Amino acid sequence: MGRRPTGRARGGRAGSGQKGGFKEAFQAEVVAEIEALVGPGAVDGLDFEAIETAARRRALALAARAVAQRFNADHSDHRGPTVSCRCGRPARYAGRRAKTFQSALGELTLERAYYHCEACEAGFCPRDRALGVQGSSLSPAVTRMVGRVGAMVSFVEGSTLMQELAAVPVDPKQVERTAEALGREIAADERRLVEPEPPAAPTMYLGMDGTGVPMRASELAGHAGKQPDGSAKTREVKLCTVWTAEGRDDEGIPVRDPGSVSYSAAIESAASRDTDQAPSAFAQRADREARRRGFDQAERRAVLGDGAPWIWNLADEQFPGAIQIVDLFHAKQHLSDVAKAIYGPGGALGPPWAKQRHDELDEGQLDAVLQALRVHAEANDEARKCLDYVTRNQLRMRYPEFRAQGLCVSSGVVEAGCKVAIGTRLKRAGMRWTVSGADAIIALRCCQLSGRFEDFWERRSAAAGTGAR
Ligand SMILES: [Zn+2]
Repeated sequence: MGRRPTGRARGGRAGSGQKGGFKEAFQAEVVAEIEALVGPGAVDGLDFEAIETAARRRALALAARAVAQRFNADHSDHRGPTVSCRCGRPARYAGRRAKTFQSALGELTLERAYYHCEACEAGFCPRDRALGVQGSSLSPAVTRMVGRVGAMVSFVEGSTLMQELAAVPVDPKQVERTAEALGREIAADERRLVEPEPPAAPTMYLGMDGTGVPMRASELAGHAGKQPDGSAKTREVKLCTVWTAEGRDDEGIPVRDPGSVSYSAAIESAASRDTDQAPSAFAQRADREARRRGFDQAERRAVLGDGAPWIWNLADEQFPGAIQIVDLFHAKQHLSDVAKAIYGPGGALGPPWAKQRHDELDEGQLDAVLQALRVHAEANDEARKCLDYVTRNQLRMRYPEFRAQGLCVSSGVVEAGCKVAIGTRLKRAGMRWTVSGADAIIALRCCQLSGRFEDFWERRSAAAGTGAR
């Protein structure tokens, strides 16, 4: 990464005389180890996998030893008899302390200068701060790997992958703790830092949606839900997603541009009351994401969502002037659900009824949709609710008009976003979350899916180098 040249020069001076010698000796040692493994003669009959696995193990062990020697020979982290503690008082040097870190090379035992503060009754190693391993027994490279697997798969699977792919043992609990700690750092970084980009296209789209995530019972006290007794099993994650759709399919319909989607989500409120000074937490999130992506600067802006009132209230407040569109995918799904409610889940009359309504939506015949719903509204609760929904959202369902303007009216981007960003990681069988754990993993995952993990990691490494963390 090329940072901290001063540190490198300082460390380099002491060993520069032996550097060439060390390098050659290390290379020779690795070659000798591998020769010893493979043995003399032809290689064709050998077990390739056994050799590569053993060679990796030995090469890494040699490298770990060399790195530990190099680090432990450098005592420049001894900065005199006292250094300033965070409390402001002096902390006294209390010798060098060894700690074993799990690194990408295997275990590394590092001895670092240790300072103890009497007032705090605690000690610290300045080098741990400088190396970015404070409070952790995982090296930066292993922490990064855990961040990757923790965002993608369960903590147990992540632990297995770490062992299988990187030959690094990290138990599931530690994968969980590390991934969540990283996710919390990312969440704080996301709130703090907005680097606005120019809009990637003349028309920018912003979608909002909510999805329930299963919670531990202790996290649900006082939250009303959909269970028969009025209790809840889930909390709602709210997701904001931004994308462009300049591409066209064979029929000329706008489709989402690959790689253009970004995500930001959390379990937070979107409700703001008239008495509130600041917008709701989720409104602020949507605003940050909009600025980050240049949505707010785009020539033409469209907000997509299902019919939920909070989405349109938020759109009115945060993005006045943006075109509001009920995601066609959601609208059709709604009508399909009504068909099932009227004719029964397996009823033969349901699908043709739904198909007819879908066609009417596509053709902009909202009066026909409303009329068909009215017929059933008195006898059927779902039909009545859907009648309200279409009535309320008529202006947001002018699909032929939107299409004529070259606007993307669906594609299920928002729906897919909930599945991709939230569902596939957080809604798997048996998973029960705490709000803080879910929010951390959601932040970690959204950061990676939005292609922002590298930038975050660079900021994090730079902050470690300056001791800012
Ligand atoms: Zn102190």
